[in-house]
Amino acid sequence: MAFEGLAERLQGTLDRIKGRGKVSEADVKEMMREVRLALLEADVNFKVVKQFINRVKERAVGQEVMKSLTPGQQVIKVVNEELQELMGGEQSKIAHAQKPPTVVMMVGLQGAGKTTSTAKLANHLRKKHNRQPLMAAADIYRPAAIKQLETLGEQLNMPVFSLGDQVSPVDIASQAVDKAKEEHNDYVLIDTAGRLHVDEDLMDELLQIKEKVNPDEILLVVDAMTGQDAVNVAESFNEQLGLTGVILTKLDGDTRGGAALSVKAVTDTPIKFAGMGEKIDQLEPFHPERMASRILGMGDVLSLIEKAQTNVDEERAKELEKKMRNADLTFDDFLEQLEQVRSMGPLDELLNMMPGMNKMKGLKNAQVDESQIGRVEAIVRSMTKDEKQNPSLMNASRKRRIAKGSGTTIQDVNRLLKQFEDMKKMMKQMSSMQKGKKKGKGGF
Ligand code: GDP
Repeated sequence: MAFEGLAERLQGTLDRIKGRGKVSEADVKEMMREVRLALLEADVNFKVVKQFINRVKERAVGQEVMKSLTPGQQVIKVVNEELQELMGGEQSKIAHAQKPPTVVMMVGLQGAGKTTSTAKLANHLRKKHNRQPLMAAADIYRPAAIKQLETLGEQLNMPVFSLGDQVSPVDIASQAVDKAKEEHNDYVLIDTAGRLHVDEDLMDELLQIKEKVNPDEILLVVDAMTGQDAVNVAESFNEQLGLTGVILTKLDGDTRGGAALSVKAVTDTPIKFAGMGEKIDQLEPFHPERMASRILGMGDVLSLIEKAQTNVDEERAKELEKKMRNADLTFDDFLEQLEQVRSMGPLDELLNMMPGMNKMKGLKNAQVDESQIGRVEAIVRSMTKDEKQNPSLMNASRKRRIAKGSGTTIQDVNRLLKQFEDMKKMMKQMSSMQKGKKKGKGGF
């Protein structure tokens, strides 16, 4: 998962001041030094880091005291808000033209994931917004691009407009728009050609397409794994073409995250979507707020709930979210969550989204060990109904019984109980931070 190193360092630094009742200017300075290093190491653009640190310092030092938070928490709140701001503040949605079709040009270098993202976006628009997109294959240079898009179209059972590789991309694009009008497709996604590097020919061609079809969106697809290169690519595409948004791909890899944290600040172009894997449904709207709290280890409850909603009924999800926010989760809820999570897909990915789960795993960087999860489940299942609802009942003899019943040891039981308490504590903190945020009062 992206951001792991950054998350670990930032959380380590912030953990130290979290509970402090007093934070001096020197503390803030010291902490900012570490945050600065963590960001630079995550390959965040140095100018962006400088601005970020200055803003946090300014706000954190001269802060107006908010009663619900300790000073340590207030500093974390500032870091969280500024991280979110850095990545674009509010979520930025895809355009929707008053008069259909909405024309979207997909641009980017070869290998960034443009063709894949075109199909992912088409799938997203149909599934989440009930739209009927037409994809257009205008990448006539990369030998397999047209075929690739056609195959993806077949898989999705969605139309792909192509005229082979002997017709100019400008004509393909404009005829695709005509076709969409005829067929009442409400979006046209044009997969344009890439190159290995930004060059004049490429830009000329893209500019010609732009002039001809007058797109509502020009989305640049960049590979997050390329770090600062991605930012440079974004800068030059933006200068020459005027972008409306960015799709950051391969955020599922072990990128240090610098691109995600710098693109918006450097180009003033919002990240609209993130590619989280090779599969067609692994494209997610980019939520700066959720991403920031994921980096700071506050989990990503909303993304998790959203994912859960495809499997679980909405009422129950809301109830669970409320419980998590009020930190009165019981072991019954925990078990239910565990089951849901298991039915939802790759555990690594999901666990990262859960508050405190980073820590619960105990072993950082360790692969999620399914048998360990099985053990946790066995322990919870060996508890009585009362114990699940009220873990404070637990005493030595109960623990012994549970360990025996679940085929584990008392240490295992103790560890789980402690982790569960930690998780609740963290939720409490998170929820008071959120409450504080709602009250707002314009900063501190
Ligand atoms: P294009 O040249 O820009 O059209 O690139 P492609 O769409 O052909 O993608 C290049 C490679 O990147 C393919 O192997 C894709 O499966 C892969 N890819 C695209 N998006 C993602 C992503 O979000 N995560 C991962 N892991 N791989 C991706």
